[in-house]
Amino acid sequence: MTMNTQGRPTTPVSGTQPHEAETVSGSKGLYQFEPLIFETDRWGKTGVDLPKAKRKASRMGGVERKAKVDLPGLSEPETIRHYVRLSQRNYAIDLGLFPLGSCTMKHNPRLNEKMARLPGFSDIHPMQPQATVQGALGLIEELADWLKTLTGMPAVSMSPKAGAHGELCGMLAIRQALLARGEADTRKRVLVPASAHGTNPATAAQCGFIVDEIDADKRGRVHMSHLREKLEKTDDIAGIMLTNPNTCGLFETDIKEIADLIHEAGGYFYCDGANFNAIVGRVRPGDLGVDAMHINLHKTFSTPHGGGGPGSGPTVLSDALAPYAPVPFILKDENGFRLVEETEEEASESFGRMTAFHGQMGMFVRALTYMLSHGADGLKQVAEDAVLNANYIQARLKSVMTPAFDGYCMHEALFSDKFTADGIETIDIAKALIDEGYHPMTMYFPLVVHGALLIEPTETESKAELDRFCDALQAIAAKAAAGDESLKGAPYHAPMRRLDETQAARKPVLKWTPPSPEQIAAE
Ligand SMILES: *Cc1c(COP(=O)(O)O)cnc(C)c1O
Repeated sequence: MTMNTQGRPTTPVSGTQPHEAETVSGSKGLYQFEPLIFETDRWGKTGVDLPKAKRKASRMGGVERKAKVDLPGLSEPETIRHYVRLSQRNYAIDLGLFPLGSCTMKHNPRLNEKMARLPGFSDIHPMQPQATVQGALGLIEELADWLKTLTGMPAVSMSPKAGAHGELCGMLAIRQALLARGEADTRKRVLVPASAHGTNPATAAQCGFIVDEIDADKRGRVHMSHLREKLEKTDDIAGIMLTNPNTCGLFETDIKEIADLIHEAGGYFYCDGANFNAIVGRVRPGDLGVDAMHINLHKTFSTPHGGGGPGSGPTVLSDALAPYAPVPFILKDENGFRLVEETEEEASESFGRMTAFHGQMGMFVRALTYMLSHGADGLKQVAEDAVLNANYIQARLKSVMTPAFDGYCMHEALFSDKFTADGIETIDIAKALIDEGYHPMTMYFPLVVHGALLIEPTETESKAELDRFCDALQAIAAKAAAGDESLKGAPYHAPMRRLDETQAARKPVLKWTPPSPEQIAAE
């Protein structure tokens, strides 16, 4: 078999099953075989036809590139086909249910897209005079108002560009507040529950804090006596980073007491708001004693994730932290809206700037469209239906799988791998789900549950879709319980079979290297 420089076969491996039979082209039915773009490269080929430049003296002062640029040479149709073929290998929310827990993969309404493409929003530039973009600034302010109202918080910073970036915003505000109190050097400890998303400890560490883990109790919530003990023993608490509902899909029932304890100890309460979808319209984090919380617009407020568009993570702040918010922010005076861009005057206590401009305009338009189309009552129903759907999944699957904790869940159903026979692991179930046409659920997270399988359907799935998904997962779970060895070979139907994930994580090959002349000769 010929391998390319990535160690990937240059033609697909034929299998023993009829559906794995080899074809001459490498394609199988509508599945198109596609090599790397660099492997199709023919130097000199191009999709554009520019007139030859008239030789002019270089104005580059001798620093111009002499070597080949090394971009692949392809015609326009070849280029388009390359990307369309790749795109058809993607799983997408527009293709099927996307059960990734903690990610809130809900449908992205087309109305959002239509509004975001209005020229008054899509054709403007952040460097344009502010007098010419009053409508856009007004939209950011209106969205900010909705976010403050829904969370019951007095201030919001709109510029962070993802949930993790919003965490950074909140923790930098906390650090700045401690600096202003003259306690930045003495308050270094940030408490983080064992079930936390990895970004929480990473953010705290990035801001120079020491991460101190708190245990989960048997109910999957913060271990209160462990927390109290920790607070008694230490006098250097900067704050806590807590997700609610937490990453076990459970509401932290002691949250008010946790907030009080942290405040009494002189610290701040950062709430990870990634799971806000479960409580939007029903619970206001401001009423729970939160000091800072990011909101992932791509989770709760239906803007696209990842490849579908940039993220956005506005961060709401309490009165205690609001003065330290980053620039720019918007103020309204008799001349209309204006961006405060420098850390002086009204922003003299600000910790500085996190982004070049004001944030993700396109996502702001989408999120506000979503809010306006749902209204306050509709958003409340979002939370109720999201929780209902997750509990439906838990109820349908609990006879064959093991729920990690007793009782109802919030917006996601968490199972442990207890139900599997010896030798069958969570990853085998995930791979079998690919054969059934589904993206796998979140697995091995949160870490406090052995072999975790975390499933979040969101409110946008119909009962029929949920049933289809549960039928597939129930059948796989029954095989897992029976120790069916065929699961170890899944996926059977995917373009790529089981990959060496350890090797991929430890020694990722991220750069294409052209084959040597000997390799080419050998082919
Ligand atoms: C998604 C998520 C984050 C990070 O958000 P990004 O927008 O992906 O940066 C943080 N915490 C939790 C619990 C999450 O689910």
